[in-house]
Amino acid sequence: MAYKTLKEVLKEAEEMDFTVGAFNAHNLEMVPAMIEAAHEEGAPIIIQTSVGTADTEGMRNFVAVCKSMAEHEAVDVVLHLDHARDIKDIERAIAAGYSSVMFDGSLLSFKENIAKTKRVVEYAHKRGVSVEGEIGTIGGTEEGFTVKEGNYTRPEDAIKFLQECDVDALAVGVGTHHGQFQSKTELNFPLIEELHSKLDKPMVIHGGTGVNEEDYHRLTENGIRKFNVGTELLVSWTKKAKEMFGKTEVNESLRNNIIPCNESVHNIIKHKIELFMNKG
Ligand SMILES: [Zn+2]
Repeated sequence: MAYKTLKEVLKEAEEMDFTVGAFNAHNLEMVPAMIEAAHEEGAPIIIQTSVGTADTEGMRNFVAVCKSMAEHEAVDVVLHLDHARDIKDIERAIAAGYSSVMFDGSLLSFKENIAKTKRVVEYAHKRGVSVEGEIGTIGGTEEGFTVKEGNYTRPEDAIKFLQECDVDALAVGVGTHHGQFQSKTELNFPLIEELHSKLDKPMVIHGGTGVNEEDYHRLTENGIRKFNVGTELLVSWTKKAKEMFGKTEVNESLRNNIIPCNESVHNIIKHKIELFMNKG
């Protein structure tokens, strides 16, 4: 068990036919509880951070915690930079020790997305780091970027993109939205099936909080190998924090407030991993 690249864990998922959960860490404090959940399930885990969270806590600090736990807790951990739009951020994350990065060129023209993703792949692969690309857009708001309506990924675009860019995973627009947590999405399964039959790369679902759990299995069967969950963890941690801080005294030991927040994230991740591993 070790600190791994995205490519390595997705290969294992492909061979053993499961999906790897990619969970957004919204602060450094919750990371040990997240990794511990994967350890208890005997599954690999992808910890991902936005550029903003990474810089708030320190990229090297995320790397240190993930590496240390991967080595000492006997669990496979990938640390992935989510939705980087600036190549400079990708270079900084790689220098700090992230094992995987996403270059999100989905707001660029198709040509520019290909050109920049190619550059990122070349840079990252030379340094042993995996790359996720995106084709089509995912609706909703993330880190201040709002995409009103997500655009479905067109299979012919995805084929062309993959011919040009040797990414290790591809984020696809199939009906999910970032930030959605009060309702569930209608996924475009005919499109997902078509993409699966035409593409030979692991696919990634973003905005996973908005996906019905009943649909997970069908996604795994259709080549979704990385499934992102961010909002659900954020909402659950924050709700628990409001509850705890609202009822404790100001001189209460901080851990008494924080432990239940981390536990709520831990429990969600365990549950999701059981579904992703087809144990649920
Ligand atoms: Zn996303």
